[in-house]
Amino acid sequence: MSITATLVPILQDNYAWLLRDSASGFTAIVDPADPAPIIAAIEAAGGRLDLILLTHHHADHVAGTDAVRARFGAKVVGAAADAHRLPRLDQAVAEGDRVALGTAEAVVIETPGHTRGQINFHIPDGALLLSGDTLFSLGCGRLIEGTAAEMFASLAKLKALPAETLVCCGHEYTESNARFALSVDPDNAALRARAEQVRALRAAGKPTVPSRLADELAANPFLRAPDAAGFAALRAAKDKF
Ligand code: ZN
Ligand code: FE
Repeated sequence: MSITATLVPILQDNYAWLLRDSASGFTAIVDPADPAPIIAAIEAAGGRLDLILLTHHHADHVAGTDAVRARFGAKVVGAAADAHRLPRLDQAVAEGDRVALGTAEAVVIETPGHTRGQINFHIPDGALLLSGDTLFSLGCGRLIEGTAAEMFASLAKLKALPAETLVCCGHEYTESNARFALSVDPDNAALRARAEQVRALRAAGKPTVPSRLADELAANPFLRAPDAAGFAALRAAKDKF
């Protein structure tokens, strides 16, 4: 009885995530920005969609929501704080709220920084984190609306999750993130090994995610920043890299 996550590549480099509860058949999709490949993936998985989960309001995460909702009659879950700029929500959620996923549930973590209303979904039963544009493999989201201190605090919440958690992020940015990470932490053996693995995966046309939180803790410079000031300097350097 646990949730499994399967990525659906959409747009240029986005990932939507199809979540399935094997016990009940309950199915959800995270960030369905492009309706055609999303609907095809859901049909291929049995044609059932109960829930749409939204991490934040950017078009490359929400644009297909209404089309997918109309096709399957699914309910939509998103941040209460951003209800005014998200598609119509059936469940508006905030920090600590629980979202039923068949026999399992997701716990809402507010992670401001990339956007003010960004949320992540932690699914303990399945050890999954849907991290949107907060945490990427070897990177983190740009500070479009929030401050470095806010993003540092958001990432600190994610760092506290169980180390075996699989990080399911919103973009395939790992290869360029690895180049920056190696430039600031060239002697990190875990990072060097991960960068080599990423290079091989991309050369084979394969996704580099999801990744284990334990591996991100060892290799992702944004999770390794000692304090908010160190994080701010790192984020500024990445923006100019
Ligand atoms: Zn975004
Ligand atoms: Fe995005």
